[in-house]
Amino acid sequence: MKQLISYIVVHATGTLPSASLEGIKNYWKNEKKWNNPGYHYIILSDGEVEKLQDESLIANGVKGFNKVSIHVGYIGGKNKKGEYVDTRTQKQKEAMMNLLISLSEKYPDALILGHRDFTGVKKACPCFDVRRWLQEYVPNFKNIA
Ligand SMILES: [Zn+2]
Repeated sequence: MKQLISYIVVHATGTLPSASLEGIKNYWKNEKKWNNPGYHYIILSDGEVEKLQDESLIANGVKGFNKVSIHVGYIGGKNKKGEYVDTRTQKQKEAMMNLLISLSEKYPDALILGHRDFTGVKKACPCFDVRRWLQEYVPNFKNIA
């Protein structure tokens, strides 16, 4: 049973931006052996937002916090040199901003943060500073700690 949503968490798939959604879904299912997807929403390079599952269901974004989190990911986060960097296209950024704004209205008490902002997480995900980025575009964004 899902509890109150406390976090809206941003992720990168940690793949090249050219990775296919199908490949990512297969990885979760076959390699990770997950029954549920890693995120509720995933943003493709062209800015299209795919809903992977209902918000009332649990996604596997951050171990220990999934019951209280909505997870949003974008395809990318890795460049051709294998470095973890922000590879978001302009369309992905716009779609992400719109999605985060609408989720923040739906869950006014939830905190928006990046996967790497959780204590003890040793990942680059989502490969950019979520709170700084939101603040740049929406000063006084209230869902940022
Ligand atoms: Zn992540």
